Amino acid sequence: MKNIKEFETLSRLLGIDADSVMDHFNWCLQEHLVSTMSDDRNWLNEIRTKPNAIALFKDRVQNRTKYIWDHANIVRLYEEVIRSIDDHYRKPISYDDLLRLFTNVELKCAKPSCGRRPPDVVMHIDHILPTSKGGSSKYDNLQFLCQECNLRKSNKKEISKIWIKLESLQLF
Ligand SMILES: [Zn+2]
Repeated sequence: MKNIKEFETLSRLLGIDADSVMDHFNWCLQEHLVSTMSDDRNWLNEIRTKPNAIALFKDRVQNRTKYIWDHANIVRLYEEVIRSIDDHYRKPISYDDLLRLFTNVELKCAKPSCGRRPPDVVMHIDHILPTSKGGSSKYDNLQFLCQECNLRKSNKKEISKIWIKLESLQLF
C-alpha cells in the first residue's frame, strides 16, 4: 500500500518507530469497535438475559461488520462490550490524544535518566500503565520512550496487544 510506505518514511524522518505508532492506532480502532457495538444499550440489556445472547450478538456484529466471526472472537468482543456498558463511563476514543502527543510533547525519551532524542535513538509510543492492566489510551497515559528504554520496560510489563484474532475473521 502506497500510503503505508509514506507513513513509514514520515515516521522515520521524525525518528519515531512506525510499528509503535501503528500498534497504538490499531488499539484505538479496536476500542472504537467495542464502543460502536456498545451503542444500543437497551438492546444489549435485553439480550444479555437470554440464553442465546451470544448468537443474537453474533448476528448483529456480522451484519454490521460484514465479516464472519468465529466463536472465540465473538465471545471476547461480547465480554468487552458488556464490560463497557457496565462501566459508568464510555471507553475513550483517543485519536485526538494520539495527535496531541505528537503536537504537544517533545520528541524525547520520557525516562529522566535517559532523555535522549532522535536521531540518537528511535522513539516508541508507550502506555505508562499498560492497557492490559486498565490503563487508558488517554493523553495523560501516553509518553514517548526511546526504543531501548521501552524494550527494557516491556520485559517487566505486559504490552498492550490487539486481542481480536483478526486472522480468524472471514469476509462474507
Ligand atoms: Zn530512553
